Amino acid sequence: MSDDKIGMNHGAGGEVMANLISKTILDNLTKKSVNNGISLDELDDGATIPIGDYEIVLTTDGHTIDPLFFPGGDIGRISASGTINDVSVMGAKPLAISNAIIIQEGFSIEKLDRIMKSLNETCKEVDVAVITGDTKVMQQDKLDGIIMVTTGIGIAKKGKIIRDSTLNIGDKIIITGSLGDHGMSIMSFREGFDFETDLKSDVAPMWNVIKKALKVGGITAMKDPTRGGFANAINEMAHKSGKGIILDQETIPIKKEVHAASEMLGIDPLEVANEGKVIMSVKPDKAQDVLKAIKSEEYGKQAAIIGEVVEGDYVVIKTQIGGERILESPIADPVPRVC
Ligand code: MG
Repeated sequence: MSDDKIGMNHGAGGEVMANLISKTILDNLTKKSVNNGISLDELDDGATIPIGDYEIVLTTDGHTIDPLFFPGGDIGRISASGTINDVSVMGAKPLAISNAIIIQEGFSIEKLDRIMKSLNETCKEVDVAVITGDTKVMQQDKLDGIIMVTTGIGIAKKGKIIRDSTLNIGDKIIITGSLGDHGMSIMSFREGFDFETDLKSDVAPMWNVIKKALKVGGITAMKDPTRGGFANAINEMAHKSGKGIILDQETIPIKKEVHAASEMLGIDPLEVANEGKVIMSVKPDKAQDVLKAIKSEEYGKQAAIIGEVVEGDYVVIKTQIGGERILESPIADPVPRVC
């Protein structure tokens, strides 16, 4: 791909995409925040608009997943979950989403019906409304299937917003469940692997889990490890905070079917997308209570404390045999069109 054209890497969540976003997108925009809220430049999971005693959280997401229906979900569930989760990890209660649909001429109405029912069921789980939308159709040769764009809005009391860049030394790192399920299941499904297991996507709205954790308190930062996987998200949190993180490999939950698929595909499960997981940093004296609260929810049963924030510049994983390796951000997501 020549330097003056968009390549798949430009949408893959790695360094190439980061350069495109900063140079061609952010630098062309001038007003990027309102009332001194969190701005576009901060590239957090959402932006905020402070109004009176509250802060409105706004976030948006385009969904191009292939295939549209996959083990554990479909484009409707992922469109709702992705946006709801980006609002939720800001510490805000998600209230509503908008839903713009761009459909290929010839697309099955029965499939669209299934997708909309799935989106609706997902929103119902966390009491989120769909309050506005748009529907467009493009000619058969101009689009592949369907694209959905959702925007989410949520609300928090002033001062209660949680960032992805505010780690403190000594904080414990909690992951709300097993890593790599979504990306690895999509990839295996596409490759036609026929595992005798229930390898499926984790796609889910995480507000009920986050709400319980917020109630306990002590959460200093949050992020959902979607595109680019856990490796990308944890490095972003560490770098933005100017801190290091030490993780204990033995405590990182990864399902054995995910391990198996990752070996066959040669892909690191820490580098692929998760669609129903949250990384939290928590004050050490609250970590056990937050963990217990998370585990009481359906989507948090496999939660674990996996590490600690330290002085430093790197994310380091301590291995079982006493070794250490630096966990780096992937150059690009190894699996395109996963979300
Ligand atoms: Mg996010």
